[in-house]
Amino acid sequence: MAKLIEVDHLIVGAGFGGLCAAIKLEESGERDFVVIEKDSDVGGTWHINTYPGAECDVPSQLYSYSFALNPDWSKVYSPQQEIWAYTKRVAEKAGVLDRFVFQTAVEEARWDDQQQRWLVQVSTGSTNGDAGTETTYAARTVISASGGLSEPNLPDIEGIESFAGTTFHSARWNHDVDLTGKRIAVIGTGASAIQLVPEVAKVAGRLDVYQRTPNWIIPRNERRFSRLEKLAFRHIPFAQRAVRASVYATLEARVPAFTRFPQLMAAVERQVKGNIAKGISDPELRAKVTPIYRAGCKRILVSNKWYPALDRDNVDLITDRIERITPTGIVATDGTEREIDVLIIATGFHVTDPPIAQHITGREGRTLADVWSTTGMRAYKGTTIHGFPNLFQIVGPNTALGHSSMIFIIESQVRYVVDAVRSMRRDGLASVEPTAQAQEEWTSAVLRRMESTVWTTGGCASWYLDQFGNNTTLWPGQTFTFRRHLSHFDPEQYDVVALDAVPNDKGNPTKEAVSA
Ligand code: NAP
Repeated sequence: MAKLIEVDHLIVGAGFGGLCAAIKLEESGERDFVVIEKDSDVGGTWHINTYPGAECDVPSQLYSYSFALNPDWSKVYSPQQEIWAYTKRVAEKAGVLDRFVFQTAVEEARWDDQQQRWLVQVSTGSTNGDAGTETTYAARTVISASGGLSEPNLPDIEGIESFAGTTFHSARWNHDVDLTGKRIAVIGTGASAIQLVPEVAKVAGRLDVYQRTPNWIIPRNERRFSRLEKLAFRHIPFAQRAVRASVYATLEARVPAFTRFPQLMAAVERQVKGNIAKGISDPELRAKVTPIYRAGCKRILVSNKWYPALDRDNVDLITDRIERITPTGIVATDGTEREIDVLIIATGFHVTDPPIAQHITGREGRTLADVWSTTGMRAYKGTTIHGFPNLFQIVGPNTALGHSSMIFIIESQVRYVVDAVRSMRRDGLASVEPTAQAQEEWTSAVLRRMESTVWTTGGCASWYLDQFGNNTTLWPGQTFTFRRHLSHFDPEQYDVVALDAVPNDKGNPTKEAVSA
């Protein structure tokens, strides 16, 4: 059976981005929206990443919506479960969950220029009782908030499929496997691995950690908030806002070291080397974990547990490259085969080639993946894309951060999107699409600013860079500058189509406008 549902706005993803878009659209009076989510609940990355030790590496006080502060964070850096529970609470309180459809993914989103709408075919899961029904949404706008770090990037290693034991990615943790006493290998030593390895090491019989490149890892403040602090956050006006503002300012003060004066990172490097000396007794192991590129070039990681974990007797750090994987273990390039029972893949995500781009077809009949395959990811203000009218991307190109909270960026983008929708209603517009020139000028300016950053000059390879060597992921500046750029919708940078020019538009939003 096929079903066509007309809706003003289709939001893709129920993580921090999609949830924020839903809440802010609702507040602005735009109540005709649906949020589709391929997972079974809200929370996005904080619902999916359940590996042991999963915690945020941005301070809790900043890792919440500005409109929904949480006085009850347990620690300076919150654990995954707590963040997920927070998103659920916020969603419930906002009263938007009635328009969330779970276990539903975008199969194909195609812009219909005649109708001036997105036709979005979705695969429907089982939770809403519509399994087997082919559903298509005819949406005025699509707000894509599917997450920059959501699709596991599996390594292309010879023989990996032949492994006869259990294999899983860090972001798809298999809780059915009892790791106690097992021989385990972890491939990768990024932000996920440094959190899960210390936990796995506690129970593993043997743990082999395969490191390709070491990271700069600074100490982590593990402090729990006292009862008194929590009471103050809850009851003393502005107490929590003041703490939040000071955390924000401290993190922003680090931006120049990333963007203009990478030599300032020498101070971080000294601190990390001290941390290594404290955590690791073996000089050979110390050398293996000490990076030889500038701190900040890859994401600076935060942990007190990583070095002590590597120093354990049941843990080996292997820096020889992996040659192949056999049904029973891993063979390194020095010829050593190490047998294992469980293979944990912590090799990160598809970032500069987001899989959802293959499912979005724009005005000229080309997929977003196809367009980006020749240019790298590009968007005007990281949010709207030439050739893709009425598509708004939350956490789009050059919006990610290496130093602060993505929620600040998400809120900035959502503010811009809501203002765009407001402008469309006010001016009777069916669609808005950034001009090629606006997008080009924005992208060139961003890439120019990248030239002096540590991500370009720091002497490392990282997931920030695309296949052309361009950093198309991070925002190269202060976050308040980003917010200022997106403070209001700027129709002069857009090609627009008036609603009057669309024949038979039943869903003329100006006729159905709901005021806030
Ligand atoms: P990641 O930082 O991209 O790390 C992937 C690791 O796998 C790296 O050590 C990489 O080595 C290695 N690797 C990749 N392909 C490989 C291959 N073919 N063979 C061997 N090694 C390979 O991924 P992640 O740890 O999942 O983290 C991704 C991002 O998610 C983080 O940077 C952060 O933004 C976010 N994150 C945040 C938190 C948090 O807040 N607590 C936690 C987890 C993740 P190379 O360095 O040599 O490429």
